[in-house]
Amino acid sequence: MKAVISGSFDPITRGHVDIITRAAALFDEIVVGVAVNSAKNGIFSMDERVAFVRDAVAGLPEVEVAPVDGLLVDFCTAQGAGAIVRGLRFGGDFDYELQMAHVNKAMSGIETVLLPAGREYGTISSTIIRSAAGNGGDISAFVPPMVAEALRERFGK
Ligand code: ADP
Repeated sequence: MKAVISGSFDPITRGHVDIITRAAALFDEIVVGVAVNSAKNGIFSMDERVAFVRDAVAGLPEVEVAPVDGLLVDFCTAQGAGAIVRGLRFGGDFDYELQMAHVNKAMSGIETVLLPAGREYGTISSTIIRSAAGNGGDISAFVPPMVAEALRERFGK
């Protein structure tokens, strides 16, 4: 089965890469769907976010990357995907993910598979990375090298 992993990936972190890598071992094919970012505090454009994800998954032949514009379940149907995979971190993810999973299932019949965040990654979020990098922090332990470089260029460190 083909599965979609969706998110805004602003920017992709090592936590996302861990989920994508583990999902790629469970499914035949993975499409990473990079969503239009409606959050006001986003920093990277769609093209940049897609490029960072492509670079991060370059070693995984069964993984493709595509932008998502519109309803996620419509994207899944267009891609011929039978499942959505989402990562579940410590704390707040559960309620939101459960709601999304039920709504997506009701609209389309597509199931959501929630994968627990890897032990080292369960507290990493793109929001924290943006905030730390924006204040001059060294975030290179938490993101792929291309993202660390882009954040250094963006924030001058
Ligand atoms: P969204 O804006 O849709 O929440 P994100 O890019 O923040 O998208 O996250 C996409 C998916 O990746 C979500 O399922 C989220 O829970 C998961 N995720 C984010 N960070 C991590 C992490 N550090 N470890 C595991 N899963 C994560």
